[in-house]
Amino acid sequence: MPDTELPAITIPSHMLPADGRFGSGPSKVRTIDSLVAAAKGPLGTSHRQAPVKSLVGRLRSGLGELFRLPDGYEVALGNGGTTAFWDIATFCLIGQQSQHLSFGEFSSKFAAAAKGAPWLSAPDVIESPVGSHPSAEGRPGVDLYALTHNETSTGVMMEIRRPDSADPGALVAVDATSAAAGLRVDASQFDVYYFAPQKGFASDGGLWLALLSPAAVARVESIKASGRFVPAFLDLSIAIENSRLDQTYNTPAIATLLLAVEQLEWILGNGGMEFSAGRCDRSAEILYGWAESTAYASPFVAKPDERSHVVATVDFEERVNAAHVANVLRANRIVDTEPYRKLGRNQLRIAMFPAIEPDDISALTGCIDYVVSALS
Ligand SMILES: *Cc1c(COP(=O)(O)O)cnc(C)c1O
Repeated sequence: MPDTELPAITIPSHMLPADGRFGSGPSKVRTIDSLVAAAKGPLGTSHRQAPVKSLVGRLRSGLGELFRLPDGYEVALGNGGTTAFWDIATFCLIGQQSQHLSFGEFSSKFAAAAKGAPWLSAPDVIESPVGSHPSAEGRPGVDLYALTHNETSTGVMMEIRRPDSADPGALVAVDATSAAAGLRVDASQFDVYYFAPQKGFASDGGLWLALLSPAAVARVESIKASGRFVPAFLDLSIAIENSRLDQTYNTPAIATLLLAVEQLEWILGNGGMEFSAGRCDRSAEILYGWAESTAYASPFVAKPDERSHVVATVDFEERVNAAHVANVLRANRIVDTEPYRKLGRNQLRIAMFPAIEPDDISALTGCIDYVVSALS
């Protein structure tokens, strides 16, 4: 049946979630109170002056607290989001050869960036089928291991651990764009943990943030000293220098900073990582529990401990058209439950970031059941 001929289905209002945003990024912004309060400054004021610098300072110190960063780790930031950070890492963090775990759209992209860099050796890429993740394998010559804490395109999460028998001094760099703040991580297991704030930090896009170990900072310095050409915009040493002054190399979106600080301090004020990851755990329990007990639905990811607690993917039996369900949900203001476009499965993808209420996940499952029975 063409989408245009879908029957008009109105979900009873008492069944609707309080907030209908379940997208995997940009994702639900919990509140814009900080923006309203900042309408006459720091919004619209210089990022080189104290009001904006103090915002950057709160972001940097708050992230240190949230992730319990060991002494010597530091927080850097700059413009361009995670995609820019892949290029930054290709220029400034990979010495000669990287290893990439490639198990979906996002993790494959950093591998592609490294592959295209003529100053590096061909990367070692370990793949696994979508819906699973491979494991890192310590190999001589690999000086950076590229992991992805949560593969947003497939809803697979993996534990972050340094690979056994890696060369001494090899770095572990983790794409945590959708994981950060929602999944627990031990900072001693990574050298670089990078993300953008439009997912777990309930903010807007365009910024990258990176937690850096002393070994990562030393790598940046030694590559710089080696004379490798690095465009200034992608030069991590310039970003680190600016970050130490609570600034960015060029002008940041102040609204993005404000929203990220608001979400970070909300998490910290409620108990930190246990609070935020605990909310995601609860949402995941509700959603996967429903999928497993529903005849027409099942979790896409086979292994329970690889099922993401921040982005769930749920397959539907053929008799239920997931795209139709997503369309009807959208008409009822429940948005962005469509699957990742390139995965091409009959499924829904549902974000469960810290900002999303577990009760709303519960309401969503009721709405999906309602729509499916109305469509059949
Ligand atoms: C969203 C996402 C990205 C891309 O982030 P941008 O800020 O849009 O560049 C990269 N990696 C993962 C795991 C993501 O979820």
